[in-house]
Amino acid sequence: MAQQITLIGGGLVGALLAQQLAGRGFKVDVFEKRPDPRVAGFVGGRSINLALAERGLQALRKAGLADDVLQRAVMMRGRMVHTRDGRSGLLRYGVDDSEVIWSVSRGALNMLLLDAAEAAGVRFHFGQSLTGADFDGGRIQLTDEHDQTRDFDTPVVIGADGAGSALRAAMNAHTPLGERVEPLGHAYKELEIPPAGGLSAALVGQSGGHDQFALEPHALHIWPRGGYMCIALPNTEGSFTVTLFLPAHGPHPSFDTLPDAAAARGFFGDEFPDLLPLIPDFAADYDSHPVGTLSTLYLQRWHLGGRALLVGDAAHAIVPFHGQGMNCGFEDTVVLAALLAEAPDDTAEVFAEFQRIRQPNSDAIAAMALENYVEMRDSVADPHFLAKRELGLL
Ligand code: FAD
Repeated sequence: MAQQITLIGGGLVGALLAQQLAGRGFKVDVFEKRPDPRVAGFVGGRSINLALAERGLQALRKAGLADDVLQRAVMMRGRMVHTRDGRSGLLRYGVDDSEVIWSVSRGALNMLLLDAAEAAGVRFHFGQSLTGADFDGGRIQLTDEHDQTRDFDTPVVIGADGAGSALRAAMNAHTPLGERVEPLGHAYKELEIPPAGGLSAALVGQSGGHDQFALEPHALHIWPRGGYMCIALPNTEGSFTVTLFLPAHGPHPSFDTLPDAAAARGFFGDEFPDLLPLIPDFAADYDSHPVGTLSTLYLQRWHLGGRALLVGDAAHAIVPFHGQGMNCGFEDTVVLAALLAEAPDDTAEVFAEFQRIRQPNSDAIAAMALENYVEMRDSVADPHFLAKRELGLL
């Protein structure tokens, strides 16, 4: 009989892991808190689009999904840096298009992965939140949107339920995991540049001949300003998702001192004068989109023997400045699926080996992501960077 594995969370990492485990003969059930996004529409929460890099792409190749994902992605050749005086220049990631990253929609990617997992035989249970776990009894507790609770028997449960993982909390209550959460102190808010058709012709002209886009589409745009910054990633239909990163609290400028669009408009006009006119719904976006917090999660233990394991953000949430959280989670899925396929009956050893292999990598990426925030908002703000670039020094 096929071995049963239960996953909590059908987000990016959960859906990809489920697809690979089902493809290797496991009987996989996934409990996801939200409704099915393919029916109810995607309910965001975190970033609208993400940078997919080689390590994530490699995992998608192994799962046979890379081509499908790339068809829905926009290539980004480098960082397009925008100075305060309105100049811009591209810092390429590599010498040619073999070294690029890709902008993908979180919702579209999640739905593609859910389809692929279902096609591989995974059973999804949407609208079901994990609300408790009896690890010794091999049972989890789930609660639906009507507050109806039920038990589900499972010998093995894997948490892919994100940075605020409920499974992690249940595991930690059973046996302390050595959890440490380090808040960054900076937070973010998302805004939107619509496709060029929605903007006046006078504002469009930086798209390098890509008429549908208001800016060059094949770049990750950065407006570095020292202690804070904006970035923008392209979407396939011609829009860009802009993210403002700013101190959460404290003296100006912070989200405390810029609580609403009325307060933020003047700041944007001064700091990002070329960007503000490209966001026609600035007031509505600023006032209706939440401020998201950012932290790094460190755990000493990712598993309870062979009964429960954490993967993706549930095990190692990081700040987003290397664009590697999802990519790192995708790598987790490949390693774990291969280990489990080799020794399906020895989950205790598999989970321990998984942590041994993956934790040094996730620790390294966590450190690089923190360093890259300083690099992105400070170093590339060097007023002489355009001149240095032209001289071939960058
Ligand atoms: P999540 O995506 O958080 O998914 C968790 C899933 O579990 C969700 O579907 C949720 O509904 C479900 N769930 C939660 N609780 C329960 C429960 N109790 N019961 C059942 N289900 C539950 N990464 C990149 O690689 N590139 C980027 O460019 C990038 N940009 C980012 C920008 C921002 C602003 C942020 C915040 C993050 C960014 N990341 C990026 C990181 C990336 O979003 C995460 O690493 C990735 O989403 C982790 O996937 P996951 O499946 O582990 O968790």
